[in-house]
Amino acid sequence: MRSEKLLLVGAGLSGAVIGRTLAEAGHSVTVIDKRSHIGGNCHTERDPASGVMVHVYGPHIFHTDDAGVWDYVNRYARFLPYKNQVKTTTRGSVYSLPINLHTINQFFGRTLRPEEAAAFIEDQADTSIEVPESFEEQALRFVGRDLYEAFLKGYTMKQWGCAPSELPASILKRLPVRFTYDDNYFFHRFQGMPEDGYTAMITRILDHPGICVLLDTPFEPGMAQDFDHVFYAGPLDGWFGYDAGRLGYRTLDFERFCERGDWQGCAVMNYGDVTVPWTRITEHKYFAPWERHDETVCYREYSRAAGPGDVPYYPVRLVAEKALLGDYAARAAEAERVTFVGRLGTYRYLDMDVTIREAMDTAAAFLAARTARKRVPAFVHAPL
Ligand SMILES: Cc1cc2nc3c(=O)[nH]c(=O)nc-3n(C[C@H](O)[C@H](O)[C@H](O)COP(=O)(O)OP(=O)(O)OC[C@H]3O[C@@H](n4cnc5c(N)ncnc54)[C@H](O)[C@@H]3O)c2cc1C
Repeated sequence: MRSEKLLLVGAGLSGAVIGRTLAEAGHSVTVIDKRSHIGGNCHTERDPASGVMVHVYGPHIFHTDDAGVWDYVNRYARFLPYKNQVKTTTRGSVYSLPINLHTINQFFGRTLRPEEAAAFIEDQADTSIEVPESFEEQALRFVGRDLYEAFLKGYTMKQWGCAPSELPASILKRLPVRFTYDDNYFFHRFQGMPEDGYTAMITRILDHPGICVLLDTPFEPGMAQDFDHVFYAGPLDGWFGYDAGRLGYRTLDFERFCERGDWQGCAVMNYGDVTVPWTRITEHKYFAPWERHDETVCYREYSRAAGPGDVPYYPVRLVAEKALLGDYAARAAEAERVTFVGRLGTYRYLDMDVTIREAMDTAAAFLAARTARKRVPAFVHAPL
């Protein structure tokens, strides 16, 4: 196969994994990022004063059921055990999340066993709602008003900036309650934290003689002509200069503060009351429980609608966005010599393991298309 010149826009997980696979296949890979660091939103860096490893764009916990992805990340980093146990402060008390038997018994002042709790919650559920249409109706149908208002309503309003009655029921797909004392946030077989942080892992993925990384380098449309193919992990609407309008995102503001000792005793504390303006506080040293630090670094996290200069975090994907997305996706599908990848390129929320799996698939699809002398698809994973 002829060695080609490939441009990867974005030095996050998507760009790194695709770039590495294609460099190993003999291609000449250039990875650019407009930021001054690699790692995308998974970027981690040590706070120089305290030595605490900080998840700069918000907390990232690696979890997967995909053994291939787990093998992949373990090639580039040593993963140490980490269990995600989230707490929430609501109505003046602290509870365990996701809502589990401990939460139910504490909240209602009961000592219910699993079967009793299931029957109790069934009694709380609003069975007059036959076909839930909104998030609110879905929650009322599943858990009833008390749990909904204490644990789901305020947090959701702050996170999405609208009433849960305006959000689709599909956001709350399953019963958000467990009838055991298991408070591990994820059910996946593999879960852990890279010992030296995600940026060290992604540095190793990008460390290949066939890869050149250029930071502080925003993509300009004219760059594409110097390459045989572009993999674009930037925002889909950005590729078109936002000419049909901007796809909606939620952005996050982090109010950073440092203290001596411990601040909250856990990594993530949610705040369920709508009167508290932040959604959660993250205490970063708890993401590395094997380390010891005298000081601590915390982020108070606020969610709001993203403006043009903000970091796009969560795609909104309501009715209006889906119509605009359909328009951009149809135009993108016709584009030549470019493949749209990752969470921004396909306008979807993707966990890290899914991002890596899709990046592996994308690199394989490129190599297969070249072997078969077929067109490389604009989307290996479609946005809709
Ligand atoms: C708050 C938050 C918490 C999360 N927590 C978890 C978690 O606990 N577990 C989990 O599995 N996943 C988590 N994720 C998801 C995780 O962040 C993504 O899976 C991952 O970042 C996707 O990688 P990516 O390369 O597709 O995108 P990104 O990481 O966003 O990388 C895209 C890169 O492209 C660059 N770029 C964009 N436009 C341009 C341009 N025009 N020119 C040059 N460069 C450009 C950006 O600077 C960025 O570095 C979380 C996401 C968020 C928002």
